[in-house]
Amino acid sequence: MVEQHTVRTTCPYCGVGCGVLATPQPDGRVTIAGDPDHPANFGRLCSKGSALGETLSLDGRLLHPEIADRRVTWDKALEEVANRFNQTISEHGPSSVAIYGSGQLLTEDYYVANKLMKGFVGSANIDTNSRLCMASSVAGHKRAFGSDTVPGNYEDLEQADLIVLVGSNLGWCHPVLYQRIVAARAARPDMKIVLIDPRRTVSADIAEIHLPISPDGDSALFVGLLAHLEQQGITDSDYVSAYTSGYEAALLTAEDWDIARVAEATGLSPLSISRFYDLFARTKKVVTVYSQGVNQSAAGSDKVNAIINCHLATGRIGRPGMGPFSVTGQPNAMGGREVGGLANMLAAHMDFTPEAIDRVSRFWGSDSVAQGPGLKAVDLFAAMARGEIKAVWIMATNPVDSMPEADVVRDALKACPFVVVSDMNRHTDTMELAHVRLPAAGWGEKDGTVTNSERRISRQRPFLPLPGEARPDWWIIKEVAKRLGHGAAFSYFSPGQIFAEHVALSGFENDGSRDFDLSGLSGADYETMMPVQWPVRSKPTARMFGDGKFFTLDGKARFLPVQPPPPFAPAPGQFILNTGRVRDHWHTMTRTGKASRLSAHLAEPFVEVHPADANALGIRRANLVRLTNRHGSALVRALVTDRQQRGQLFVPMHWTDQFASNGRVDTLVTGKTDPVSGQPALKMAQVHAEPV
Ligand code: SF4
Repeated sequence: MVEQHTVRTTCPYCGVGCGVLATPQPDGRVTIAGDPDHPANFGRLCSKGSALGETLSLDGRLLHPEIADRRVTWDKALEEVANRFNQTISEHGPSSVAIYGSGQLLTEDYYVANKLMKGFVGSANIDTNSRLCMASSVAGHKRAFGSDTVPGNYEDLEQADLIVLVGSNLGWCHPVLYQRIVAARAARPDMKIVLIDPRRTVSADIAEIHLPISPDGDSALFVGLLAHLEQQGITDSDYVSAYTSGYEAALLTAEDWDIARVAEATGLSPLSISRFYDLFARTKKVVTVYSQGVNQSAAGSDKVNAIINCHLATGRIGRPGMGPFSVTGQPNAMGGREVGGLANMLAAHMDFTPEAIDRVSRFWGSDSVAQGPGLKAVDLFAAMARGEIKAVWIMATNPVDSMPEADVVRDALKACPFVVVSDMNRHTDTMELAHVRLPAAGWGEKDGTVTNSERRISRQRPFLPLPGEARPDWWIIKEVAKRLGHGAAFSYFSPGQIFAEHVALSGFENDGSRDFDLSGLSGADYETMMPVQWPVRSKPTARMFGDGKFFTLDGKARFLPVQPPPPFAPAPGQFILNTGRVRDHWHTMTRTGKASRLSAHLAEPFVEVHPADANALGIRRANLVRLTNRHGSALVRALVTDRQQRGQLFVPMHWTDQFASNGRVDTLVTGKTDPVSGQPALKMAQVHAEPV
């Protein structure tokens, strides 16, 4: 029974999307508990979620609009944004302006931003930090299924007999999902877990097999698995012939990849590869969970398809306890995808086809809809550095610290003639470069929806008043749209009204040929809406593709021939630098940095280095180490551990100069991207390391 003043909401951190009960107390504190009725977490919370109440202070908040460091009225700030965007578009065209958003935006915020840029400015230059998170999964899904659809759900992980974790430290990055697996295995001890990761992370603690694969060796491992499944007669030929296309071509590419060649490409022993292949082959119920170790790569899309190929070949998809499963990093990376918050998508999972452009134009009542994709994140900031983007609006994210080649991004923003930042925080490194600062509402103040990794839409609800003059993002965007002359199309007065329009667009002329359809929610009461999995035509859908029907033109899933890249060898004296998260921090620490118990877990930026490498470099435990390459440098504390392989280093992504001097690791990360998805290779920089 929920107390009268307790509010049901959703955690603002990772893509698990846990339900939270927030109860404001008379003394101003807010108590936080897991929602026992939410199907993502059933009452569980991880350390970050449970500390949410300790991150709600107004310290460091931006509470009033500012122009050129001076407090101004909302009216003046909104006029300035609209006038400068208008002027830039008039002088240089719609492609000279851009929005860079965030997986922290709610779906309603995202919908309005996307509609403004693609529908009325007429440019698709709206991309988001979700490009850094899961764009390769989107590309892989679309190539295989004809749609960006996650087939399964969290229950599949509990029902599987084998879970393969690929490039995913679920124990730290998606802790509640990890806890669900641990509990399921305690109930069914025969469940097996394989971890494929260059590092022996905490997730290895529950794995029967840990395969410390070479960076970017994943494609070779799964291409070899496809060949092995065929050789062993494990392929489900009835499924393949009835529901798929392209198997022969994929197999032709895979045939040369015997275990010896896979061993060479992955750095794994033939014996350990055989053990994994045999386990996969003989286990029917397999879920392959993959995350940033797969996605954040210059070959990320191919890795995703190499994994999906193995599930299609065995028919292990769309059935209980089976399937490829992408887990998203951010709380609303999925919701952003749904509204078209990526530069290469239009809206409601539609692409820039002539039919879709016409449909969306009629629905929005606009003849200015963008006619093709815009610039993806890395390309967007590169265009800004060349002077081609002359006005940018950054929402709820901190690219000066989180983008690859972060110093180049900082310099591009410094040189950009007009930078608007809307955020709840006054002192991020990106906010410091803004010409106009707009105070946005934060978690606990915002009202809207988010979608988690299993396609489940949940409500985020407010339980705190808006502080100072902070406003919800959707309100800020629609006020600018009004001043740009589009008031009739942006006459929103509530997030519920925006969600209803999003629902209507998803079902508009949708005969079932588009995966994203919420038409069953039409007329639903937004205020009392319970978590629900899309598509919702007549009823919610827990699992997709069980009927063998996909969203390709012929209705069949597609195999993709994958050619693994050659093994990567750093230059002599250089290390491969891997980056990622720690358990208790989130992004650039703007929220988690406020909770002392979260900062107590790992107090400063560090580099994990193998003992043999540390010895060779003269590095001792807790020494300061300088990492350098042609892009930048970082100063970090040595953590000598054999969890790390020789020749490789790991540095967490969170620290900024605000929290640790010279700790910005993304200054070192290459801007190289996957050619299909545009996702940067955040786990594959080359660096020089030396003790200080
Ligand atoms: Fe929040 Fe993710 Fe932790 Fe759940 S697992 S409480 S969504 S950070």
